[in-house]
Amino acid sequence: MPRILDGNRVRDDIKYELKPRIDALSAKGRPPGLAVVLVGHNPASEIYVRNKIKTCHELGIYSESITPPDTISTAELLAIVVGLNARPEIDGILVQLPLPAQVDSKRILMAVAPEKDVDGFHPCNVGALVAGLPAPRACTPAGIIQLLKRSGIAMSGRRSVIVGRSDIVGKPVALLLLHEHATVTICHSKTPDLPAVCREGDILVAAIGRPAMITRDFIKPGATVIDVGTNRIEDRAEASRIFRNSREKLASFDRRGSLTVGDVDPVDVVECAGAYTPVPGGVGPLTIAMLMTNTVASAERRSGAC
Ligand code: NAP
Repeated sequence: MPRILDGNRVRDDIKYELKPRIDALSAKGRPPGLAVVLVGHNPASEIYVRNKIKTCHELGIYSESITPPDTISTAELLAIVVGLNARPEIDGILVQLPLPAQVDSKRILMAVAPEKDVDGFHPCNVGALVAGLPAPRACTPAGIIQLLKRSGIAMSGRRSVIVGRSDIVGKPVALLLLHEHATVTICHSKTPDLPAVCREGDILVAAIGRPAMITRDFIKPGATVIDVGTNRIEDRAEASRIFRNSREKLASFDRRGSLTVGDVDPVDVVECAGAYTPVPGGVGPLTIAMLMTNTVASAERRSGAC
């Protein structure tokens, strides 16, 4: 049986390690502060933001959510971000994506002060990532590296193949793996013979957004497979096909009316990989843990503690 890379355990370890740092900041004057801007009523975004705020409460991080309506203009949202940039008790600003179509998302992300950009999306922080300089790193990619390190999976000198080249996951995780001395290949929708390229990977990262696309033909036997995908399946026949009629999974589908599936085939990965991240419970829990880490690190920098 392959090893399961348990994201919940690593998340709990990271949170445990953050607690004394948060307590030290609070004792010195004030706790770290995170502001989350959530525009409109996207149900998935509302769940993500609720979980982020809940984790702040658990850890003793001050948090506030700003919830403008989805009719907001770029100028109005810019004014909110500029206001948060100026507030001394706010160490981290997160603008939950996606934003409504009328808002210029790039302008909004560029307006967040780089030192408060706990998502690591500002071009200054992306540049720092490329140059290997200290700066907030994008949370999901940073979480993947933590998961690999803390699970004792070697990266140096190993072939890593990443499927997906998004600014949020694919590109930053490729750069982080490169900084860990992996030999990195980035694939995308125009990559010819994708299964053959993926089979070169000792570490295979799937960040595609296509349910169970990575089947056994893509996996080098014994590889470490990191599944970033979180795809909601609402078609029972599709769920039945992906989970090979698993009675347990179908019962879960029938209770909820949907199932979350990664980008990697959940049956094939168990049969072919040496280690893998389950969905849910693999990469997902690390994203919030790294957001908390970035917020605490920002508060430490701003308070002169490091
Ligand atoms: P994205 O911006 O849509 O990017 C998807 C990437 O996959 C693109 O680079 C695209 O290639 C590539 N792709 C799509 N179809 C392909 C195909 N048939 N063959 C090869 N490559 C293909 O997605 P994202 O934001 O990176 O997210 C990816 C997945 O991760 C989603 O399921 C998302 O929900 C999940 N996610 C999870 C977390 C978490 O915390 N667990 C965080 C972020 C994202 P092109 O560039 O050529 O179009």
